[in-house]
Amino acid sequence: MQTLHGTLLRPRSATDCELTPSAIVRIGNDGKFAEVGPGQTGASDAVGGDGCWILPGLIDAHLHLPQWDRRGIDGLALTEWHEEVVFPAEARMEDADFAEALAEDFVTGTIANGTTTVAAFGSPFAEATERVFEVLARRGLRAIYGRMLNDMHCPQKLCEHADRSLDEARALAAKWHGAENGRLSYAFSPRTPVCCSEELMRGAAALAKLLNCYIQSHAGESAAEVSAVRERFPDNLDDIDVYAEMGLLTPRTLLGHGVVLNQDQRHQVTETGTTLVHCPTANLFLESGLMDYVAHRKAGVRMALGSGIAGGPDPFMPRVAVECLQTAKALKVHAIPRGSHKPPAPAEAWWILTHGAAEALSMSDRIGAIEEGYEADCLVVRPEKWISGLPSEQQPSALLYTLRPHQIEHVYIAGRRVGP
Ligand SMILES: [Zn+2]
Repeated sequence: MQTLHGTLLRPRSATDCELTPSAIVRIGNDGKFAEVGPGQTGASDAVGGDGCWILPGLIDAHLHLPQWDRRGIDGLALTEWHEEVVFPAEARMEDADFAEALAEDFVTGTIANGTTTVAAFGSPFAEATERVFEVLARRGLRAIYGRMLNDMHCPQKLCEHADRSLDEARALAAKWHGAENGRLSYAFSPRTPVCCSEELMRGAAALAKLLNCYIQSHAGESAAEVSAVRERFPDNLDDIDVYAEMGLLTPRTLLGHGVVLNQDQRHQVTETGTTLVHCPTANLFLESGLMDYVAHRKAGVRMALGSGIAGGPDPFMPRVAVECLQTAKALKVHAIPRGSHKPPAPAEAWWILTHGAAEALSMSDRIGAIEEGYEADCLVVRPEKWISGLPSEQQPSALLYTLRPHQIEHVYIAGRRVGP
C-alpha cells in the first residue's frame, strides 16, 4: 500500500473540475486506487504533502515514436518535412538496437512530462516494433502502439508488400494486444490513404476487427493532403469517405488532426464513433491550419489531444491543451463576423487531457480518474505556491497555464512508480 497526500484535482466532466485541498490517495498492491478522499495522513512514508497536488496521469493520443529525437526542426514545407525529417527518422529503425535505445529515451522523456498513456505510431519494421513493445512492457508505460503500414508513395526502404506487412502486423497484434494486464494495446496503423493500397487498408480494417485492436491514421490534416487523396481516389469525396469505404471508421479508430473537416465529415466521424485527435501545436508548427475544436465538439465528435510529435515540438500535454484553448480563441476573434461562443474553458482542458481522453480511447472504465477501483495512473506535482491561495474556481486555470515538467515529482502507472 502506498499513500499520497496533497491537493487532489479531479476532472469530472468538460465543465466540472473538482478540487479537494487536503486529500489522501491510497494505492493498493493490486495497482488500483484503494481509497480516495479528504483527510490528513499520519504515515511517515506518505508521498507528497503540503504544496503538492495529485493529478490523474495525462494522455497523449497521437505521436510518432521514431521522431522523438527530431522535435523542433522548423522552417520546412510539408513535403520537405516528410523527406528530410519523417522518412529518415523511420528508416533508422531498421536497426532494431537503435530502435530499442530510442524507445528507452522516449519512455524516460514521456514520463518526465507526466504522460502516462500514449497512442503512438512506430516504423514500418517488425523487429523494431517488437523491441519497442519490449521496452514499453519493461518500463511500465501504458501504450497503444503499432507498426507503421504503407506500401506506396513512400521511400522504397519504408515500403513493404501488403501481404507481408499484414502478416507481420497480425503476429505483433497477437502477441502484444492486451499484454501486461491490458496495459499494452496494438493499433493497426495505415499512414494515410495516399500511402496505402486498398488491399492494405481493407486488410488492416479486417484484422483490427478480428483481433479487437485499435486503428490509428491521419485525416484532414491539411489542404495539400486532402487534394492528394482526391487525386488518388477520384471516385471518393475525401479521405473520410475513403476510410469509410475501407472499413476503417470504427469506435476503436483514432484519426489524427482533422483540421479541414466539413460538417458532413464531422457527422460521418461522429456516427461511426471514430475518435479525432486534436494536435494543435503540430497543426501550427507545420502550418496545416487551425482546427475548429468547438465545431467538432458541437457535432458530437469524440476527441482527445495529441502532441503530434515531431510535427508538434513539445511532449508536455498541458502545453498542448493550452494551445487547444488559444487556437479556439484565435478562430473566434478572427471569424467574420467575430464569434460569440465561449471558447473551451481550462476545466475542459483538464477533462480532455485525462478522463475525456480515456473515454475517447474506450478506456474510461479503467483509467483517467482518481477513483477507488481505477488503475492508479497519477502524478504528484509541486506547482508554484500562490496557486493554492487563489479562489478555488481559478486554481485549475492557473495550474494549467503555469505547470512545468520540472515540477512533476512522482509518476505512477498501474500503481507502480515509474519516474521521473
Ligand atoms: Zn501523425
